[in-house]
Amino acid sequence: MLPFKLIYSDGYYLPIGQHVFPAQKYRLVHDRLIETGLAGPEDFATPQPASDQDILLVHTAEYIDKLKTGTLSAREQLELEVPYSPELVKAFWLSAGGSILAAQHALNDGIAINIGGGFHHAFPDHGEGFCMIHDVAVAIRRMQSDNKIKTAMTVDCDVHHGNGTAAIFAGARTVSEPLPSSAPAVMDQRPLMRGAHAGDVFTISLHQENNYPPLKPPSSIDVDLPDGITDDDYLAWLDNALSSGLRQFTPDLICYIAGADPYREDQLGGLALTIEGLKKRDELAFRVAKTRGIPVMVTYAGGYARNVADTVTIHCNTVVAAKEVFQSIKLD
Ligand SMILES: [Zn+2]
Repeated sequence: MLPFKLIYSDGYYLPIGQHVFPAQKYRLVHDRLIETGLAGPEDFATPQPASDQDILLVHTAEYIDKLKTGTLSAREQLELEVPYSPELVKAFWLSAGGSILAAQHALNDGIAINIGGGFHHAFPDHGEGFCMIHDVAVAIRRMQSDNKIKTAMTVDCDVHHGNGTAAIFAGARTVSEPLPSSAPAVMDQRPLMRGAHAGDVFTISLHQENNYPPLKPPSSIDVDLPDGITDDDYLAWLDNALSSGLRQFTPDLICYIAGADPYREDQLGGLALTIEGLKKRDELAFRVAKTRGIPVMVTYAGGYARNVADTVTIHCNTVVAAKEVFQSIKLD
């Protein structure tokens, strides 16, 4: 039995037909975890859909109304890049409920993994880039309104910039102070890391600079990675961003967005991480959280490998990494 919970429902499936987003990946990850014996049925917790009140903590009433009544404009539907349906709305409410449940379990167990979620391109008043509802932001705002946490840090390792996250938590951002520069030697000529912070949620995004979204609203820390970056450089940048972020800010909860799309064979990504490098990435994030005693809630976000089985392997490895790092945390 795992020392933490995996949050999953068959209802995570996104009814979007033939699409570059492999909507079946959640079920495939669940099945692979069971088949390989990495997890048993008792390791899974089943989410309920978020309530409309939960969604309203992040999204506007007008946007929620459009989603529930099917009255998005043609342009809004295009921006979403997945075909609208009432069933799709249900799936997004459920994934937000899953991230709320993952946050609750993370606060109890030190870590919890939502086998879904991570829809970091959703904004308060619109969705884009396959993301209708920002499940991670909803979970953070719900934990805050329940007085379970005061502060949170998002650590977004999807290959795409977390534009929705940055916009939602922009808060009262003030003038930027230069970040301490302890960048890895190989990259030290490049001013890739920028940022500023003032608010109750500190946002970190490591992403490929030359990729969607074209407009990248500032996170607390943005690491704009060059095309084709490989494992070691990526890990050095992540280490650097985490150290810098945690020097500036002490969160009650880390929300780790474990996108599988920095993978070198991803169709929508232009970085060059290996499957092993991505597992090391997860281990690094988990080790930092565990060492500092900060609970971590994990979501999956993107993953568009040519071979869907690779995306499934990368997502399953996130569970393996969590098991390796957190196995010794509980003595009972
Ligand atoms: Zn992505």
